[in-house]
Amino acid sequence: MKNIDNPFYTATSRRQALKNIGIIGSAAALSPLNLACLKEEKKLGIALVGLGNYATLMLAPALQKTQFCELKGIVTGTPEKAIKWQKEYNISPAHTYNYETFDKIKNDPAIDIIYIVLPNFMHEEYTIRALEAGKHVICEKPMAMNAAGCKNMIAAAKKAGKKLQVGYRLFYEPHHLEMKRWANEPFEGRIKLMETSLGFDMARPGLWRIDKKMGGGGALMDLGPYVIQAARRAAGQNPVSVLAQGFIDDPEIYKGIYGTYTWQLKFADNALCNSTASFSSYTDRYYVSKGYDYMELKPAFAANAKMSLQSRDESKSLPCNEYQQTTQMDAFARNIFDNTAVIASGEEGMIDMQVIDAIKKSIETGAEVKIDYA
Ligand code: NAD
Repeated sequence: MKNIDNPFYTATSRRQALKNIGIIGSAAALSPLNLACLKEEKKLGIALVGLGNYATLMLAPALQKTQFCELKGIVTGTPEKAIKWQKEYNISPAHTYNYETFDKIKNDPAIDIIYIVLPNFMHEEYTIRALEAGKHVICEKPMAMNAAGCKNMIAAAKKAGKKLQVGYRLFYEPHHLEMKRWANEPFEGRIKLMETSLGFDMARPGLWRIDKKMGGGGALMDLGPYVIQAARRAAGQNPVSVLAQGFIDDPEIYKGIYGTYTWQLKFADNALCNSTASFSSYTDRYYVSKGYDYMELKPAFAANAKMSLQSRDESKSLPCNEYQQTTQMDAFARNIFDNTAVIASGEEGMIDMQVIDAIKKSIETGAEVKIDYA
């Protein structure tokens, strides 16, 4: 299977394949192909920008398990955090930056990839600055505050000749890939109905996620990308229109945004997906149905929970890495080594933002909105 379709493809499997055809250890030892293999032994250096919850609890531990990349640098505005991380992860002060010195990272050859883990309103600016520094970039979701921001980021990556990945860990997760495979298989008919939802209690004042300027739209921006892309993957196509609703259960908390967003995506073949993103209530659902069968993933979107896929006849759990982020980051490193297309690309991130822009417009106008993919 080609690397682009298989995030579990490894240098080891490539070396094995080369051994099988007698290249490694033969007179062809100095061929360009073999030199490329040797080059891959160097892990790519990653610098994390923004040492908050996700960087601390998920990305740094996941980077202790990666095969093709390693935690080499940090960017933080808090000197005490810098010292703590330097000690814990053996990071040199030479690869430690703050927001004033950030652009100097361009002179640091140890850093190949910059991973933006900042609040949403900073994603576009820091991604573009990182690309202008000549680095490959992973940017967390939501990719930007709107589709126009995504377009600027994609253009910056093209101009710099660097790769861009959105931190969509589930694009590489085995249960999600199996759901996609089942949903796109013609057996049992085509998909007509889906339900995708994610929500939990985030109703606390002062958090950037519920600040309109910093978060861009509460649960819709924070959790919307998961449920939109799950529907897109299962449908095997992009929705053509959306009708959306916003609800506020606590007016003291939600100012200019909604606590709960619901919407219905329509696809060209009349398939339908009902979705919710909420900061008021717990929900976690990925349900896809055909005429006589269904598949449901439980839990659906949580990071690193033990997942199981259920259908009418069976329930199964698949082997997977301890950290979904390990697979995601290693897949990106392989894209860089092999110069292959990124699966969770900027273009994928932009499609989700085009849908989110349409959801906002539908709530504003009360009408069904055709999604603009221009
Ligand atoms: P967080 O608030 O815990 O961390 C944000 C970090 O940014 C903090 O260290 C903060 O000090 C720093 N920061 C720098 N400048 C700032 C400013 N002007 N205002 C506020 N903070 C500033 O948030 P988090 O939960 O780590 O989320 C960070 C990003 O990661 C978000 O975009 C979020 O959507 C994304 N995320 C993704 C996943 C996933 O599963 N892919 C999970 C959680 C979070």
